[in-house]
Amino acid sequence: MPLSALAGNAALKEQLLPRLRQGQLGHAFILSGPAGAGKGTLAAILARALVCSQEQDKPCGCCPACKKALAGIHPDIITLRPEEEGKAITVDQIRWLRSDAHIRPNEAARKVYVLPEADRLRDEAQNAMLKLLEDGPPYAAFLLLAENAGGLLTTVRSRCQELSLTRPQGADDPCSDPDLDALAGQLADLWMARDEQGLLRLCVEIERTKWERARCFALLDRLSARFTRQMTQGSDPRQALRGVQVVEQLRGTRAYNMSVGHMVGWLCASVMGK
Ligand SMILES: [Zn+2]
Repeated sequence: MPLSALAGNAALKEQLLPRLRQGQLGHAFILSGPAGAGKGTLAAILARALVCSQEQDKPCGCCPACKKALAGIHPDIITLRPEEEGKAITVDQIRWLRSDAHIRPNEAARKVYVLPEADRLRDEAQNAMLKLLEDGPPYAAFLLLAENAGGLLTTVRSRCQELSLTRPQGADDPCSDPDLDALAGQLADLWMARDEQGLLRLCVEIERTKWERARCFALLDRLSARFTRQMTQGSDPRQALRGVQVVEQLRGTRAYNMSVGHMVGWLCASVMGK
């Protein structure tokens, strides 16, 4: 189920699923909704679906393109972030995007540009994107994330398909953490695909960030829940069962000082049953 990582939003999933099954996605989307609604999670799924090498049932999660996308290293998925923390993406960055979009994809059939906080783009920057949205190269795709789609120019909105997300119930729960949910989903997918390299890369990436122990254990809870679900609903219950066992072993190390990087390293080392 390609959309299982996205919490709630049942009607939207129903609308998207046939298009993912048929491998037919448009070229420009606005993903709108409040913080915690799952815009980042859905953008990651759509980006994977756009670069996945399968004809249908995208994203498959298993092809080399999906694995690279999961590990955050696919060269044809480009996330445009503000040059300075707290600032908006500049018109110069959009000009760069405009010229980069005319360079063919490196590996995939499509090239995907993700723009978080697109509603913070100034009018000038939005106007600089118009021609690209209307008449860009056929392989280019754009995912514009916005808390408030009303912050985008009507000319931009009219050129995109709008996918409106809502915060799932329970999102106000203090235990709710969309970043943690997304990371747990990513780890579980890599584990189920036995993607040692993907886990290793994620391990190196995460090692740099300091986490509180409570958050590490909240991640384990989420991983355990995902593997348990996979044991009954997934196609590889044995690997899911091993996932549950490894998470339990990790939980048993609670007495020791363990960082999130260690945890992912442990998962990585045990992925092939070593
Ligand atoms: Zn794939």
